[in-house]
Amino acid sequence: MRKISLPSVAAVTLGCKLNYSETSAILDRLSAEGWQISSVEKGADMIIIHTCAVTKQAEQKCRQKIRQLVRRNPGCAIVVIGCYAQLQPFLLSAFEGVHGVLGSNDKFRTEIYREILDTKPETPLVQVSDPGAADEIHAGYSLPEDSGVARTRAFLKIQDGCDYGCAYCTIPMARGRSRSLPAAMLIERAHALASSGYREIVLTGVNIGDYRSEGTGFAGLLRMLEQVALDRIRVSSLEPDIIDDRLLDVVACSRKIAPHFHVPLQSGSDRMLQAMGRRYTTEGYRERIMRAVESIQDCAIGIDVIAGYPGESEEDFQDMYRFIDELPAAYLHVFSCSIRPGTRLASQTASGERKLLSSREIEGRSDLLIELGRRKKSAYTAGFLGKERKVLVETSTQDGRGGVCCSGYTANYLHVTARAENFAGDAQRLKGMLLPVAIREMGHDLNLEGRLLF
Ligand code: SF4
Repeated sequence: MRKISLPSVAAVTLGCKLNYSETSAILDRLSAEGWQISSVEKGADMIIIHTCAVTKQAEQKCRQKIRQLVRRNPGCAIVVIGCYAQLQPFLLSAFEGVHGVLGSNDKFRTEIYREILDTKPETPLVQVSDPGAADEIHAGYSLPEDSGVARTRAFLKIQDGCDYGCAYCTIPMARGRSRSLPAAMLIERAHALASSGYREIVLTGVNIGDYRSEGTGFAGLLRMLEQVALDRIRVSSLEPDIIDDRLLDVVACSRKIAPHFHVPLQSGSDRMLQAMGRRYTTEGYRERIMRAVESIQDCAIGIDVIAGYPGESEEDFQDMYRFIDELPAAYLHVFSCSIRPGTRLASQTASGERKLLSSREIEGRSDLLIELGRRKKSAYTAGFLGKERKVLVETSTQDGRGGVCCSGYTANYLHVTARAENFAGDAQRLKGMLLPVAIREMGHDLNLEGRLLF
């Protein structure tokens, strides 16, 4: 067997923040076992491609990426991991140049990477166990992929899997049932991220509001994390049914938990919500969102919606449009409906129980929702003109005229670019600082601009 000393590995991640946090954890483990962490640009003995299967488009992007990386890196061991690998291992192992395919739990078994590198098997090594069969859950947290990036925001995985079983969703098949990491481990990890310079952590998972560990629920975990020396804790996506008064009170009373919730709505028609198997009604959703914006200052509500769900009538769509239009939303993420193999929706459409919409109808509804989202974002963002808010600086450069230009996010996730004249210090040192900014105007693509107040 060929002996390789200090093998190098690079990773390419597609998909959600959870994937990013898991890639970092895998690289961290490999590094502890003597691998050198490299990048695709610098070259590596192995490239790990972390895939996503949330939509057809996401899968297509993964396939393109695999082909591209194989073509540009001859001689390199290629390993495909993640949700797409879990769901379609044999399709991906048939790609020329792929040496290994690892499923959702298997991707954390670092000894397999070494085996693949040592043997570069002609027939790819496929290791995909049933994610539903194990209670296994692996930690994930993020370090910047490029060491030139300031240590401002880290992703911390707290939970994996989902028990909800929405009709269209493939994620429970890819990631198994809901399980949570122990609170003590997460607090320790958050302390470690804070002491290595991070100012903000973003809690990630598939259904993070479903967090449960030894008597601690999601609101309890937030309270514990507040004790860590961080400036911000961001909760990312939360299912509407778990946004209860206790959680809202914890956020409203906190000086660290960001006033920002991303709350999947999917449809604004009760008939469609029922068909999707969602756990709330439009009235329940509205009530939670109104309570959030009334009790939490600056609260930003991001909404996910599906355009063109099979069986959605023109009337359902109009209901949804009106419903969202009346909500105090800060932005919308619009997804064109994608039928995932193996889901309830796939059987319903195959049997004719739910009628597919034409691609023209899906596109038309998607365009209208995207435009509505732009209008919502514009209105929400404009509400901050003339105000002062703190920005966590992610980039900072000298402007060549003796001034400095910084950019970053406010607690409620508004992107702000801010300048100061006559800046004598080192611009790089501003990265990772929480700086007050007077917000003056709306710039390109609804980004805010302002003046640094120091
Ligand atoms: S809540 Fe529904 S949409 Fe979200 S991951 Fe679970 S099953 Fe999928």
